[in-house]
Amino acid sequence: MTSSPGATRDDDGRSEGRGAGRTSRRERAAFIDRDGVLNVEQGFVHRIEDFVLVPGALAALAALEAAGYRRVVVTNQSGIARGLYTEADFERLMGEVRLRLRAEGVSFDAVEYCPHLPDAPLAQYRRACECRKPEPGMLLKAIGALDIDPAASFLVGDRISDVQAGRAAGLGRCFLVRTGYALSAEAIAAADAVYDDLLGCVTDVLNGDRSRAD
Ligand SMILES: [Mg+2]
Ligand SMILES: [Zn+2]
Repeated sequence: MTSSPGATRDDDGRSEGRGAGRTSRRERAAFIDRDGVLNVEQGFVHRIEDFVLVPGALAALAALEAAGYRRVVVTNQSGIARGLYTEADFERLMGEVRLRLRAEGVSFDAVEYCPHLPDAPLAQYRRACECRKPEPGMLLKAIGALDIDPAASFLVGDRISDVQAGRAAGLGRCFLVRTGYALSAEAIAAADAVYDDLLGCVTDVLNGDRSRAD
């Protein structure tokens, strides 16, 4: 199996299979940071035994899917540029994560990652790229590939750089959760709201959608 650098994608082809409605009905998406939002922040997680889902994360992903939201993971992985693990290690881990999620009936539509760092020890990853958050490159790539309407979409992160990337990509709303890095006052001020965790955020968003539909 091949994948373009910086991206892995589910192989079920659902993102392309939407037929006639595709051009007229753009997709809504939840852009989800990985470490500290989906899984417990433990610093450069790259082994499956260190990938511990945040409580409620599975339920949040399932609820998003049931409500018709695309699930896009957007994650800075400077551990690759630092030589702590390789892109192959990252892709292997995410493959295993996807298998485990699938066993629970849950999936991602895309996983976008940035392996770069401006002052990276490894020369091939040493650059000021357009994908490392707060830059919006990973989000813009998924927006194009999955025909996502950014204004109808939202982001959940645990750092101000997540919010900044979401803003730069034109997302409708950018939220923070308290399961990751300690939130700075600046980060809290930048976010549209702060929740205890991903499930709390998703529950509130979907409740808001329902009340608007009534
Ligand atoms: Mg994070
Ligand atoms: Zn990058």
